[in-house]
Amino acid sequence: MKPVPFAYHRPASLDEALALMERYGADGRVLAGGQSLVPALNMRLAAPAALIDINRLPGLDGISLEPEGLVIGALARHEAVEASPLVARHAPLIAQAMPHVGHRAIRTRGTVGGTVALADPAAELPACLVALDAIVRVTGRGSRRDIPVQRFFRGIYTTDLAPGEIVTAVVALPIGPGWRSRFTELARRHGDYALVGLAAHCRVEGGVIREARLAFCGVGATPVRASRAEATLSGRRPDADVVAEAGRALDADLDPPGDVHASPALRRHLARVLLARAVAQIVT
Ligand SMILES: Cc1cc2nc3c(=O)[nH]c(=O)nc-3n(C[C@H](O)[C@H](O)[C@H](O)COP(=O)(O)OP(=O)(O)OC[C@H]3O[C@@H](n4cnc5c(N)ncnc54)[C@H](O)[C@@H]3O)c2cc1C
Repeated sequence: MKPVPFAYHRPASLDEALALMERYGADGRVLAGGQSLVPALNMRLAAPAALIDINRLPGLDGISLEPEGLVIGALARHEAVEASPLVARHAPLIAQAMPHVGHRAIRTRGTVGGTVALADPAAELPACLVALDAIVRVTGRGSRRDIPVQRFFRGIYTTDLAPGEIVTAVVALPIGPGWRSRFTELARRHGDYALVGLAAHCRVEGGVIREARLAFCGVGATPVRASRAEATLSGRRPDADVVAEAGRALDADLDPPGDVHASPALRRHLARVLLARAVAQIVT
């Protein structure tokens, strides 16, 4: 199948891109890595009047350490994030998640901005950003917003982006001493979207989990924080009994969907398996 005909623009500046976004309104669509949008066009699941290709916009692919935290530009490719020493040092959770995103060929083109704008509920990066309490930076004509990530993801493929806005970066806040991270997921085949994934970010002191931040993907419309399991782990040494108790607490935290890939019961089971694995790796 071929896409419905569309106009194609390749702006050279953010201002030009934003002007095009304004001109086309809901009929315009940003093209970043194209790994999700192009198949959707070819299958005619999307039929925008115009594509606004942002790949030539200068300065959007950087990864830098700024006073507000680690700033990862919207056009940073998954591959670049995976290889970045800054990400490995200042947001190791994101570095650990990257190899799980599709296949290498997809990661050479797919972008950070495209992944957060798409808001696939099974995607790894959104769960990491939620566990890290990160910020999504968006720019519109004459406006810039820093949106707390918990507010950004609103539902399946639905975000807080307003018409005409472009995601320009995500910001991972600085990590304090004692914080340790582990991303882990289960998928039927490597490269598939996760059946269930867990982004775990915990502050550990002398083998005791002082604070726990657990964000699951693949179990709801958005990344899901497991607040009861977090509370169960916090302030305790995670021996087998405590981990089992936290696993049981997940039953109240998660209400996963069933589909052709996995039933709700299987997803609940997998979430408990991932929790036990992540905690063991975080405290050892
Ligand atoms: C076989 C296969 C397996 C995959 N597996 C995974 C996986 O396991 N995990 C995962 O997370 N992803 C997976 N993906 C998706 C892939 O990671 C995509 O690259 C990503 O979801 C979208 O990024 P993109 O840069 O390609 O965006 P595009 O496809 O270019 O755009 C996606 C959407 O976001 C919008 N958009 C893009 N950039 C911006 C921006 N800066 N501001 C505002 N809107 C924007 C576009 O208009 C479009 O609606 C897979 C894809 C394929 C084909």
